[in-house]
Amino acid sequence: MPKYRYLCNNRRCRKVTVEEHSMAAHKTVTECDHCGSVARQLYETVRTQSSAGWPYYCDAMAVHPAQVHAEAERLAAAGIPTQFNARDGRPEVRDNQHRNKLLAFYGYHDKDACYGQRSG
Ligand SMILES: [Zn+2]
Repeated sequence: MPKYRYLCNNRRCRKVTVEEHSMAAHKTVTECDHCGSVARQLYETVRTQSSAGWPYYCDAMAVHPAQVHAEAERLAAAGIPTQFNARDGRPEVRDNQHRNKLLAFYGYHDKDACYGQRSG
């Protein structure tokens, strides 16, 4: 499930509360974990897709659309069943675990990996 970050509105607190819930249950305001004040959602300007929602389509691991079928078979044979967008060749990354497997399979490094993400 996606994680959402909220910044406390209380100037003396200003702590970040992290909540994990489904996108359907998403809200833009919550109660600060630290002081109980109103906390508003922090919108990430970078890496919005990977931090705010799964699944997402990954540009970096895209293949040529003509290779989608072969690549899906290759990944399935490696134990990493993956759906592709047939039009643009981008793989659908379902969750962190799936992402880590794909990165390992392709030998990619993520220099600013988050907690629980493969970094090399
Ligand atoms: Zn607070």
